[in-house]
Amino acid sequence: MTDSCCCPPEAGNAVCDLPAKDFQRSMRAANLCPECGRIGKAVEEQTVKALLSVSLREVQEAQYLFCRTQTCAVVYFSADGEQAFTVEQVRERVYQKEPKADNVFICYCFRHTVGDLRAASHKKLLAIVDDINTGINVGQCACDLRNPQGSCCLGNVRSMIKRLEAPALAIP
Ligand SMILES: [Zn+2]
Repeated sequence: MTDSCCCPPEAGNAVCDLPAKDFQRSMRAANLCPECGRIGKAVEEQTVKALLSVSLREVQEAQYLFCRTQTCAVVYFSADGEQAFTVEQVRERVYQKEPKADNVFICYCFRHTVGDLRAASHKKLLAIVDDINTGINVGQCACDLRNPQGSCCLGNVRSMIKRLEAPALAIP
């Protein structure tokens, strides 16, 4: 139990990258994006299958990783670097690739966009976080099938809120 985040399986907890999962760190070491050379985040097979817009005949029996580099067009790649799927081959627009686009989802399960967060008052932001937490707790999320990163969005939501509420400390 200690090797997992607090989320249920449908929130993608097997591939959550909250700090609890130390073992993933060593596993990731070799998993570099063939395009940008950065380390990818492990995703489950069902995430790749759910999010690709190309024929699933392309999906191999491989470990796939998610590239979160904003300027890199690759979304998923195989651990051996042989295969890569780009933003054009994915059914959803990807938050990590377009973190400033108002109409891109930051929470894919409960449909909260970047613009929703940007337009929200402090009170409304708390309500959004509450909505997401409640949804996760009652098992209504499907982050492994909906969110391109294959795991829960809360980390992204929390850091965006932090940026919004402390503009002076914002990291560019
Ligand atoms: Zn990349």
